[in-house]
Amino acid sequence: SEQTDTPQYVISIDQGTTSTRAIVFDHSGSIVSTGQLEHEQIFPQAGWVEHDPTEIWDNTREVIGQALSKANLTRHDIAAVGITNQRETAVVWDRHTGKPVYNAIVWQDTRTQAIVDQLAAEGGVDRFKATVGLPLATYFSGTKIKWILDNVDGARERAERGDLLFGNTDAWVLWNLTGGAHGGVHATDVTNASRTLFMDLEKLSWDKEILDIFGVPASMMPEIKSSSEVYGTVHSSQLLREVPIAGILGDQQAATFGQAAFAAGEAKSTYGTGSFLIFNTGEEIVHSKNGLLTTVGYRLGDAAPHYALEGSIAVTGSLVQWLRDNLGMIRTAPEVESLARSVEDNGGVYIVPAFSGLFAPYWRPDARGTIVGLTRFANKGHIARAALEATAFQTRGVLDAVNADAGVPLSELKVDGGMVANDALMQFQADILGVDVVRPKVIETTALGAAYAAGLAVGFWKDLDECAANWGEDKRWSPQMDPAERDRQLRLWKKAVTKSMDWVD
Ligand code: ADP
Repeated sequence: SEQTDTPQYVISIDQGTTSTRAIVFDHSGSIVSTGQLEHEQIFPQAGWVEHDPTEIWDNTREVIGQALSKANLTRHDIAAVGITNQRETAVVWDRHTGKPVYNAIVWQDTRTQAIVDQLAAEGGVDRFKATVGLPLATYFSGTKIKWILDNVDGARERAERGDLLFGNTDAWVLWNLTGGAHGGVHATDVTNASRTLFMDLEKLSWDKEILDIFGVPASMMPEIKSSSEVYGTVHSSQLLREVPIAGILGDQQAATFGQAAFAAGEAKSTYGTGSFLIFNTGEEIVHSKNGLLTTVGYRLGDAAPHYALEGSIAVTGSLVQWLRDNLGMIRTAPEVESLARSVEDNGGVYIVPAFSGLFAPYWRPDARGTIVGLTRFANKGHIARAALEATAFQTRGVLDAVNADAGVPLSELKVDGGMVANDALMQFQADILGVDVVRPKVIETTALGAAYAAGLAVGFWKDLDECAANWGEDKRWSPQMDPAERDRQLRLWKKAVTKSMDWVD
């Protein structure tokens, strides 16, 4: 009958920093099945981080297959595809062959510091900020594209001939899903575009003057679309053939959307490899006076865009990975919690994980990681504890900046991401913030947000209210720490941060 032919699910592709996931959601926003594959982290030298775009595309196809087969579904069950992705990571490929000209340069990569310095020599790091909402920093795609054009043999000539395309991994996945060299759609959404350094926040279009200053041909740039509309349908060579691809949001904006933080004044913090606090400022573009980024939150079709302030922290969960992989202190990331609980407090130890400088609210590329307060008493429990606490302290730093910019303090914080499974961390976070921390039932908010964007575009969900009604609270942590103790800890943390700065000579 007609009824049973109506697709009951939306699939979301979450192309993350460490892995690619495909998650099938039902109408209630619940997870039906998941496919996931990690990809290689390539570290060619200190400060460089790359991914192989071909591996990422192969994994994308594979995880879609995993997710569908686990739930016994076919393309006929899927109403739409949503895409969410690690932002800023830059892929440059040949439009005729589909071959990347270089590995993807990942958001954490700091090789472009010389480009940043050179561009900042004239006009300072904030020279484009009024237009694009961002300071000049290695973090954003623009400097990475320039690096590829400057350093890969023949790349600039090929780009100028119109043979090369750029995309963050959303555009890379979209182009390939829609047919690649056989007519693939070269587009991105406003949220991803707002992380390049090239998009005018008001006009939502590429700024020609800035592209010229960087020497990046406009022909490389994807068309900027909204976050929720049909960009194209999946190519006939793929499992999901003919299914519309109808939502794209950068991972942090997707998580905000998945947390149903649709309205001005709402916020969320996602704790993954790094941590990112996003505060929705509604239709208003707010320029931060406190080291936050101004970015697009989402745009649904032709409706007015929603903007946001963002506090980006480069290293949080990856510090736990570092304890695991580089120090061998733990075998798995979750083990950090029992190790941290083996001691009563941090024993006076503070870790500032400024592995790639410090992001918000400091923006100090000259900072490097530091451990302070060591005594003969300190053991690995204290180190584990200090590592977790570093996440909470850094988040307090960006929340202070949000409160100062917004003028009204946030009354509670919605959280998600891999680290929110850690109960000790979440309690300490509430203690250090002095406000409640709230975890929703579905913590895969990134994938859910992209699913919502796609589902809204094809009428699978009727409106934002219908999506918001799916949000349910799983757990809440309230502050228990004595305020005087909190102040003492914050004082020591701030002192530790000063010790990490001005290290690179
Ligand atoms: P991403 O999307 O950035 O790849 P995830 O949201 O999947 O990240 O979170 C993974 C990160 O969370 C890893 O850096 C890992 O070290 C950290 N992590 C996972 N589980 C825990 C835990 N129980 N306690 C602390 N950190 C954790």
